This record gives sequence, structure tokens and C-alpha cells, in this order.
Amino acid sequence: MTNLTDLTFHELEALIVSLGEPPYRARQVWQWLWQKGCRDISEMTDVSKALRTRLAERATIAWPRVVRVRESGDGTVKFLLGLTDGEAVECVLIPEKDHYTACLSTQVGCAMGCGFCATGMLGFRRNMTPGEMLGQVLVARQYLLDRGEALSLRNLVFMGMGEPLLNYENLLKTLEALHHPQGLDFSSRRITVSTAGVKRHLLDLGKTGLCALAISLHAPTQEKREQIMPAAARLPLGELMEILRQYPLKSRESLTFEYLLLAGVNDADADARELVRLLSHVKAKVNLIVYNATPGLPFRQPRPERVLAFQNILKDKGIVATIRKSKGTDIAAACGQLRAEADCQAEGGA
Ligand code: SAH
Ligand code: SF4
Repeated sequence: MTNLTDLTFHELEALIVSLGEPPYRARQVWQWLWQKGCRDISEMTDVSKALRTRLAERATIAWPRVVRVRESGDGTVKFLLGLTDGEAVECVLIPEKDHYTACLSTQVGCAMGCGFCATGMLGFRRNMTPGEMLGQVLVARQYLLDRGEALSLRNLVFMGMGEPLLNYENLLKTLEALHHPQGLDFSSRRITVSTAGVKRHLLDLGKTGLCALAISLHAPTQEKREQIMPAAARLPLGELMEILRQYPLKSRESLTFEYLLLAGVNDADADARELVRLLSHVKAKVNLIVYNATPGLPFRQPRPERVLAFQNILKDKGIVATIRKSKGTDIAAACGQLRAEADCQAEGGA
């Protein structure tokens, strides 16, 4: 059985044609899937009964199963989602001033092994399909609709579990589906993909123009970076920066560098100055992230005055540097705290 949400628009068209129908019928089905949030082929009332019947013999519409929803005191919502094979991932809805942002997962677990990240500690289990990645958007949007929320889901960040660029083919299909004007219709300015850096796909992603890019840098030198991000050994900092210098940017767009501040590891004035040097040849803004403690990990959160001092060094050199407000820490929904498997087992499995 095909899950219709796994298909690109062209794949859906091909399926419809293979059922003996004209290709333009795909548009109707697509609108049901993505605009109306339809979960049952028989409910596509303006599609002929004959096509619905034939489609239902070949395909279903499978959304991830909502296993648990937790809401933080600050309005952040964390979904534990069960996938068809019993795996689970987490997805987070973050309230902003005038909209919601959804933080999406791309893999079950992650192979990059960053020492500070709860997902990294799980190791890699498998890639998510396009339908599973998009299913997070459908579930989150439906949740807001059901609650009668006035604010809508406007921004998407691929900053949940997993390394998006290690699931590249499926990521591209997902981004294409997100953009479709008859579907979810997210513009590239509303989508950010975050990566720890995967050499073979970085520039290609840039050439698609489908999203903004954030790079998880976290250290200003190769030595320090490798200490906390072992996968950095595969793409040395010099080479990473060279690729980023060639990265195609739209007008007024810049690259976002995420820098996780770990007390005594990478938060010294000297680190900030080194970072300024490193970023001097790219159009960069920096998003400082204060480490969220994860049980079992050997890192500490820097004190607020250290974070501000670090930020000021960047600002003094003309670099736009923001401090990411940590949301949802009380429900372990903040950056680096996502680890669905353990949660799920505690609940007796997805
Ligand atoms: N794998 C990609 C996408 C996931 S993003 C990437 O790493 O970019 C996850 C973000 O949360 C990254 O910026 C990561 O560095 C950050 N993060 C991981 N562990 C964290 C922790 N314990 N506290 C705060 N941020 C963390
Ligand atoms: Fe993977 Fe990103 Fe976590 Fe590193 S920070 S282990 S790349 S999810």
C-alpha cells in the first residue's frame, strides 16, 4: 500500500494516470491531502466514486499517530508521534508573537554522535519518509485547528531529531511538497534547515533555493569542534567554510550559524574572537544557544553574564548575534532534549 502523503505531486500524477484517469485529477487529490487535511480517500467528495475506489485499492493516507501531547507552561507543545513500524519521533510547536513555528524531525535517532545532544545519544535507527516528515506538519496544524487557535503555523525549522542532510532525497521531496501552491504553500523564507554539515549535499541544497540554511557550528576551531562533534572530522572547518562561501544566498539573506555555549568548553572570550575571524568571509548571523542540560551528559550551562559577554564580542565586530530563547525545557522539548525512544519505552511502546 502506498501512503499518499509520501508522494511528490508528480508521483501522485503518475499514480492517477496509471489508474486510467487524466493527470489533472491529481490536483484535486493533492488539495484534499494538503489543504483540507483529508485522512480518508472515501471522503474526497468531488473526486469520482470510481477513482476513489481504485485509489483506495492501492493507497491509504497515513498520518503519524499522536501517542502523547505535552504542553509546557510557556505554551510550547511537544508531540510524541508513533510511526507505522513502531518507531517514534518528537515534534515541537513553538509559540511566537504572531505565529507558531514547528520544529520537525528528519530521522529516528541520529548518526552524527554529537556529545551534547540527547538524539545523538540514541544513535541512528532509520530515515523518516517524506510522508512522516510532512505528517508532523499535518498533525501540528490539525492540533491548532482543533484548539481553535487564532495564530497559525507559519514557520518550519528542521531542527528536531536527526541530521536532515543525511536523509537528503526524502528531505528534497518534503521541501518540494511544502512549497506546492495548491498544497501547504510554505515559502522558502519560512523554512530553515539546520545541519551539522554534510559535504556531499550542502551546495546542492543551496542551489534548490527551497529553504534557508542554519549551520550547527558550536566551535571556532577544528580541534574543539571535533571534541564535541565527532562527525566534524569528516568535513574539516576550512573546507566547510569554503563551501559556505560559495553557498548561493538570496538578496538580504544570510547564513545562520548556531553556536551552542558549553561552560568552560567553547564560551571564552578567545573563542568569541576566533569565531569573529572564522566568519569574516561569509554573510553570517549567529544564533547563540545556551546548553540545555541533558541527564548523563558531562556539560554545564554557562552563566548568563558569560553568554552576554560572548554575544557582545560578536556584536562589537558587527556580527548580528541573537540568543535563542529556550522554550519548553520543563517538558524536555527544548533544543537537544528530544529523545523519543526513551520516552516511548517508558510508556510501554508506541
Ligand atoms: N542535526 C541537525 C539538526 C538538528 S538541530 C543539527 O545538528 O543542526 C538540533 C539543534 O539543537 C542543533 O543546533 C544542536 O546543536 C542543538 N542542540 C543539541 N543538543 C543541545 C543541547 N543539549 N542544548 C541546546 N541545544 C542543543
Ligand atoms: Fe544529530 Fe544534530 Fe543532535 Fe548532532 S546535534 S547528534 S547532528 S541531531
